[in-house]
Amino acid sequence: PQYLVMPGPQVTWHRPVTLEQLLELKATHPAAKLVVGNTEVGIEMKFKDMKYPILIAPTHVPELNSLAVTEQGVTAGAGVTLTRLMTFLKAEIAARPAWQTSTFQAVVGQLRWFAGNQIRNVSALAGNIVTGSPISDLNPLWMASGTTFTALGKDSAPRTVPASQFFLGYRQVDLRPHEILYQVHIPFTRPHEFVKEFKQSPRREDDIAIVNAGMRVRLEQAASGGWVVAEAAVAYGGVAARAIMAPQVAAALVGQPWDEATLTAALEAVRNDVVIADSAPGGKVEYRRALAASFIFKFFAHVATLMD
Ligand code: FAD
Repeated sequence: PQYLVMPGPQVTWHRPVTLEQLLELKATHPAAKLVVGNTEVGIEMKFKDMKYPILIAPTHVPELNSLAVTEQGVTAGAGVTLTRLMTFLKAEIAARPAWQTSTFQAVVGQLRWFAGNQIRNVSALAGNIVTGSPISDLNPLWMASGTTFTALGKDSAPRTVPASQFFLGYRQVDLRPHEILYQVHIPFTRPHEFVKEFKQSPRREDDIAIVNAGMRVRLEQAASGGWVVAEAAVAYGGVAARAIMAPQVAAALVGQPWDEATLTAALEAVRNDVVIADSAPGGKVEYRRALAASFIFKFFAHVATLMD
């Protein structure tokens, strides 16, 4: 493929074919939009009257389309489509012991209910992440699972940021104007570590979530012989202007056995982490609070089954 530039009266379209060309373009045009599936940008331009005079299609940059297994997990180029990611993770799930792929199983489970085939076939991992929607189905999972993102810009060193720190505000992410999202690193899980996805939407197929979540715990055997929570991370979408972590829920879990008293403490804590004002955009406030709590309940039941 060749480098293409298509100038037009309102929009100039660039199609770089190397990473260097892409970074050069983004440095020269920091306000330019990258377009892969166009399922966000297209809607903004057509229905929200947004003007983006420079569009850059990174679809032919090999590094952005690569998928690789590392010692730590899977590294995906940020331009990989959701369908390709799903296929790749399914193969890893089939090839590895179940304990190692709990995050992959959760991602595949969430993608099952993410839009439809047409959208998943064209839309990129980065398109979902960088949009920073408070209701993204994947961002809470990246946050809870310990996934990290690498940003890259011309003449600056690659920056790797935990997903849990990447979402700064309503559709605001930790990317500098000259940077692109370059890679997504999804870690393997360790023995006795469990990750689970949650999504409640008005309609099961192809619908936007009301509340979604990603949850992770790692259990270890205490000196007394019983199992206690060594690590916990809980993230929600649909309860604030951005996807959020629930640190008080995590604190209520760590060091505790997986039993009813711990569940009760976590359900108490979620009221402090998920605070939705009665006048919050999106409405359904009482329902959303109840969903946040009920996902914790479901997670308890899920992990308890796996421990048996
Ligand atoms: P694009 O529109 O091409 O780009 C989106 C944004 O990402 C742009 O701002 C662009 O500049 C930026 N970008 C892209 N790549 C990079 C990069 N490498 N570095 C920096 N910035 C970059 N979302 C859900 O979470 N769950 C759903 O169930 C769901 N269903 C949907 C159903 C429909 C019918 C539609 C239209 C959308 C749906 N979405 C859903 C939202 C959307 O599909 C996703 O967010 C999708 O992943 C966006 O990817 P894209 O490649 O189409 O993004």
